[in-house]
Amino acid sequence: MSEEALIVIDVQNDFCPGGNLAVAEGDKIVPLINEMVGRFDHVILTQDWHPADHSSFASKHPGKQPFETVEMPYGTQTLWPDHCIQGSGGAAFHPALKWTKAELVVRKGFRAGIDSYSAFHENDRTTPTGLAGYLKERGIGKITLVGLATDFCVAYSALDAVKLGFDTTVRLDACRAIDLGGSLETMLGKMREAGVKLA
Ligand SMILES: [Zn+2]
Repeated sequence: MSEEALIVIDVQNDFCPGGNLAVAEGDKIVPLINEMVGRFDHVILTQDWHPADHSSFASKHPGKQPFETVEMPYGTQTLWPDHCIQGSGGAAFHPALKWTKAELVVRKGFRAGIDSYSAFHENDRTTPTGLAGYLKERGIGKITLVGLATDFCVAYSALDAVKLGFDTTVRLDACRAIDLGGSLETMLGKMREAGVKLA
């Protein structure tokens, strides 16, 4: 019998109102996520966790502004304001998030030269985080994803999860989006097409 896990993506201060890369209403999902944390047998969190000189920061690219793109060795990368720097208050989980039950915290984006939206693979699409192996070894075949942001880290995680064979649901009411140039509609379409259950 396959076990089931809740995976809470990047509910960190920098992605909430007042943070460096705030997602509108990012904090509004916390009560619902807390309720879900209480109901799931297994809870896993991800935490965006960048060194201060991370290559996804616009500040590292002279002449570039946040939300512009650059070409990286692994493809096109959106540039972001400095955010979720290792050990900073912005990288901490939202103070109201009841996360202590979590069995695992997956940190991602810790390599300076490569970003990682997905909880499973970094943005080169080949470097694994180890999460798939962890879930498989523990007999967890079914996952529900919630958190921030719908159209980036949640969507990339969900798309990787179905590709890796996990039964994958995204609870849209427990997510919020950045929606950069229509990215929300694009990623919802991709998730639907790939077989992610949108609930
Ligand atoms: Zn990041």
